[in-house]
Amino acid sequence: MTASQSVDLVTLGQRLRHLRRTRGMTLEQLSAAVGRAPSQLSVIENGKREPKLSVLQAIAAALDVSLQDLLRPEAPSRRAGLEIELAHLQKAPAYQGLGLPSVRAGRRLPADALESLIGLHRELQRLLTEQSATPEVARRANAQLRVNMRERDNYFAEIEQAAANVLRSVRHATGPLSQRGILDIAAQLGFTLHYVSDLPGSTRSVTDLRNRRIYLPQVASNKGHDPRAVVLQTLGHFVLGHADPSDYGDFLRQRVEANYFAAALLMPETFAVEFLREAKADRALAIDDFRDAFGVSYETAAHRFTNLATHHFGIPVHFTRVHESGIVYKAYENDGVQFPADVTGAIEGQPVCRKWASREIFQADDRYSSFYQFTDTAAGTYWCTVHIESTRSGEFSVTVGTPFEHARWFRGGDTTRRTVSRCPDPTCCRRPPADLVSRWSGSAWPSARVHSHLLAALPPGTFPGVDAQDVYEFLDRRA
Ligand SMILES: [Zn+2]
Repeated sequence: MTASQSVDLVTLGQRLRHLRRTRGMTLEQLSAAVGRAPSQLSVIENGKREPKLSVLQAIAAALDVSLQDLLRPEAPSRRAGLEIELAHLQKAPAYQGLGLPSVRAGRRLPADALESLIGLHRELQRLLTEQSATPEVARRANAQLRVNMRERDNYFAEIEQAAANVLRSVRHATGPLSQRGILDIAAQLGFTLHYVSDLPGSTRSVTDLRNRRIYLPQVASNKGHDPRAVVLQTLGHFVLGHADPSDYGDFLRQRVEANYFAAALLMPETFAVEFLREAKADRALAIDDFRDAFGVSYETAAHRFTNLATHHFGIPVHFTRVHESGIVYKAYENDGVQFPADVTGAIEGQPVCRKWASREIFQADDRYSSFYQFTDTAAGTYWCTVHIESTRSGEFSVTVGTPFEHARWFRGGDTTRRTVSRCPDPTCCRRPPADLVSRWSGSAWPSARVHSHLLAALPPGTFPGVDAQDVYEFLDRRA
């Protein structure tokens, strides 16, 4: 067990320092008492290291307090509380992104300076929250959904069960589900399918509940949408007992569940796991093989892989869908990767680091073949496999990634391609390189294409709403 599971390290450090000083002990004296180097205790007091339970017990004994008292979540004093708050505010991506130095809130920082800094930080947070592009309701629902998915390792046992029951009811016994099988399922559930040319543009299907008819678009395959999936998603709502959604969060949850249900029918758990187990044994896990084996879209295969990878194989994963402009449309993780987020924690609409595989692929010579990359980030090294899908709204990269040590189970896990991402440090990729700036600054005049929902997401730069680096690079290529 480690302390950080329940305790904030900065608070713990502050409590420790406070107790030590109240007892009139120097760092050296306490170190001697617990048999550790003063430097080791110092990093703990500064909240920079997670102490082992045995070390904590020794410290508690030396300070003559109970372990519980040492681990209490309250700041030891008002001043300490402010110092803790400042430490957290300075670590937030919104502040890190400004590239300003961190102020150490030690004893030498005057009280009024500390109060002033905290006041400014709080105001910055408030202003950024106000400006956030994603409406509050959607933001909270998206964040909640990501938490739920992480807690369940992206695996929904009750939906797997519901899908397995449906497959059993139509005596489906082999791998992929055919069009015939889908008709059987619809009939089994008492629905008939009707393909029409005048389906409302804003719907993917409409169901007449009275006559149990499902109306579907005649031009079935608008890019990326598997017509079989649309039928199964619709049936999913009924099988899973969805009622009229009570709010946006409910709507979102139902949608995710219906999509999950459809994927669990198109790629039944038993067969999919069997397929993946063999591939893993050969150290050749590959999303495109998984896609081909079950005849689904790449994105469906990628989502389905993330449903099963952690639960069945202990492989933690992350998923992103990123537009060619570099903006996140969808992302979730249970592998600790740090997605870009605005001050409110919203991920959707944020620009991804240029060094990430999901953006590097757009620069690749052969962007439509298999693309693998290791990326060093502040949260660790990740291996990713990326694929580009073309849609009517442009090209999207679909990425499945996993921490370094799990790359060996994948085809391409031995790639030599490797980048370093230092985001949210602004010198990583949010500011154009100095040579480009010196070449083009003052000689470029891009006219922004106004797209209000993206405006707030773009990094603040020389030109509002425009990525200065892209503009300079463009001019360089033409020059
Ligand atoms: Zn970056």
